Amino acid sequence: MKYFVEKYRSQISSLIVICLSVMLNTGLMAFTISGHLSDVVTGNNLSQVNVVIISDDYAIRDTILTNSIGEWEYTSKFSMIEHGSILPKEFRVSQNYPNPFNPTTSIDFSVASAGYVEIMVHNVLGQELDSKQKLLNVGNYRIDWKSTGSAGVYFYTLRANGKSITKKMIQLDGGSGGGLSEISGTSFRQSSELAKVSALPLTIIYEKFAYVGDTVSVAVTGGEHFEIALETIHNSLTLIDLHNDLLEQMLDDPNYHWMPEHNYHHTDIPRLIKGGVDIQFFTVWISPNSGSYTSNPYQGAQAALSLFNRELNLYPEYIQQATTYDEAISINYDDKIAAVMCVEGGHTIENDIDNLIALYDAGMRYLTITWNNSTDWAVSAQDNRSETVGLSDFGNRVIRTLDSLGVIIDVSHVGIKTIQDILTTTTNPIIASHSGARAVRNHYRNLYDDQIRAIADGGGVVGVVFYPPFLVNSGEASIANVIQHIDYIVNLVGIDFVAIGSDFDGIGTNTVRGLYDTSTFPDLTLALLEHGYSRDDLAKILGKNFQRVFEQVCGKPPVKYVYHK
Ligand SMILES: [Zn+2]
Repeated sequence: MKYFVEKYRSQISSLIVICLSVMLNTGLMAFTISGHLSDVVTGNNLSQVNVVIISDDYAIRDTILTNSIGEWEYTSKFSMIEHGSILPKEFRVSQNYPNPFNPTTSIDFSVASAGYVEIMVHNVLGQELDSKQKLLNVGNYRIDWKSTGSAGVYFYTLRANGKSITKKMIQLDGGSGGGLSEISGTSFRQSSELAKVSALPLTIIYEKFAYVGDTVSVAVTGGEHFEIALETIHNSLTLIDLHNDLLEQMLDDPNYHWMPEHNYHHTDIPRLIKGGVDIQFFTVWISPNSGSYTSNPYQGAQAALSLFNRELNLYPEYIQQATTYDEAISINYDDKIAAVMCVEGGHTIENDIDNLIALYDAGMRYLTITWNNSTDWAVSAQDNRSETVGLSDFGNRVIRTLDSLGVIIDVSHVGIKTIQDILTTTTNPIIASHSGARAVRNHYRNLYDDQIRAIADGGGVVGVVFYPPFLVNSGEASIANVIQHIDYIVNLVGIDFVAIGSDFDGIGTNTVRGLYDTSTFPDLTLALLEHGYSRDDLAKILGKNFQRVFEQVCGKPPVKYVYHK
């Protein structure tokens, strides 16, 4: 989840407000400062955060921990010496933080005494990239930083009357937004009179396992309170879940809506937000064995799609359909979940390429070539012909049509010979959207080493599934069992070919212990970090590996009708 959830959780405070107050003074004095740490998404208090207080001027380096309600307090062990500089009475900076995904960072500040204010943006080497200076009267002001230059960590410094504050900002994507805007006035806010003391420059570093750390440079005079919201590593990364069967549940439960939060099924918007899901693939699966559409699955797909579209139309503030990675990310920039439609089971097209093209037009961006049932043109993994019979001529035409349209080929459920035939025909990377490693759990739904290697050789990914019968030989499965499959694939082919394909709402109540519904993805990330995966590894597993496939296959305009008729 790379975006804020204020629309959902109005109580979330994502603002850092730093008040600095200084006037002339003489003599020596000690100081006390305090603060509070919370989670930017949940709003929960964060205990056991390392708060490191550093002053190079006075050789301070102290570490304190936040208490059980996220609070900390620090009293200097010495008396500080008056600096003697003339500084504004109040100098207030607030940044929408962490806000790495909005290409514009707004910096609001107020000045309590007239004077020149300078703002500059510099890179980690201290090289100035842009600056603005203006003589300002008492009042509140805003300046915007519009993404420019390459992605990375940047800093901005505000200076007034010889006093400064430096704050980090993260620019994820490069851009040419133009840098700093002009300084503009906002509403006037009366400043309060503050104590007369001198300022001590401090660096305060906040660190907590599984969280993105933060560093704030301030000048303190005593009495300041720092309200800081930290973001989990999970939340800072793009999470793409490759497989979710909520639409299947909704065909049986058509009054189910994506809001509000439920205590049944696995998926709704509040739980997707809690789970930090940025891009969710919603599967259209029509049972070939039971229900209303066994003989007309294409019509069943239309029924599922109308439920999908109904919900998208009900909650456009929260979720929006995407058909490419770029579209999905721009939806995420607007603080929304991106929903991508996919179809599970080639039987859905009823042997008609026109139906395939119509599903593409409705947004289908992967097709699982078979479900457990074979079709006239492709054999499934459950079929006893799995090793000997693959694609028919029509099956090869389906594969070439998928390639020409820009639809990802999914081989979860697909027979062994069929996968070989697909790899011979397709020119694109392929995926197994929700499977495991057969060497860990010998189940027909899982992949042999050679199959995993072939998928990786083509640049594809395996989305590891959360269904206990595919993970362990018998009994319950835990998060550690999911990690076993991830480890196995990583050890076999490297870190670049594994992804997440939960299968939530396709597995009934038989869930992995700890992965009960779509709100629980952060617990998997935490366990992977504890297991030794790095933040970069997590970025790949949760999203970047599949991003490669999504961009390569779906990023170019479709070529329709090449193989048609
Ligand atoms: Zn499935």
